Amino acid sequence: MKLDRALGLLREVPDFPLPGVVFRDLTPVLADPDALRAVVDALQDKIHPDTQVVAAIESRGFLLGAALGYGWHYGVVPLRKPGKLPAVAHRVSYDLEYGTATLELPAESVTPGQHVVVVDDVLATGGTAAAACELVERAGGVVTGVSVVLEIPGLGGRERLAGREVHALLSV
Ligand code: 5GP
Repeated sequence: MKLDRALGLLREVPDFPLPGVVFRDLTPVLADPDALRAVVDALQDKIHPDTQVVAAIESRGFLLGAALGYGWHYGVVPLRKPGKLPAVAHRVSYDLEYGTATLELPAESVTPGQHVVVVDDVLATGGTAAAACELVERAGGVVTGVSVVLEIPGLGGRERLAGREVHALLSV
């Protein structure tokens, strides 16, 4: 399947999770085997060849990260919300529009000098992806880039990730 047809399956859900917010839902893309393959292949096309590990952001990043890891022989490290990991190597908190959020890197995952790509479904303000990069770097990893399916421009995500390789399959 062509990438544009695959991305055409993205669904917009108004007023989720809050009134006035339009949530971009990847569920129909992931649920279609041809669309899933087209999207994962397109993500892989932009991943730096030195990359050894995918750091996948909870929770939709896990689905994409696992497919990439299996398909192209990367290790996969889940970056998790608090309270999920039995052993935490590093923890980063970051500001959201309202309140704060935290991401954790598991113990014995990224090792110093490893080349790591950060993968998620959506880049909005960039806070989540920036925290992910910080976690990888605290462990001594080298971030080769940030790859997402969808970027919502105008929310400052690219600016927050200035100096990093940011790849988005679609920007709306
Ligand atoms: P940011 O930290 O860049 O503001 O938000 C990105 C994080 O929130 C990602 O982990 C992403 O999964 C989630 N997110 C924010 N907005 C959306 C959206 O419209 N659709 C989806 N699927 N995820 C979103």
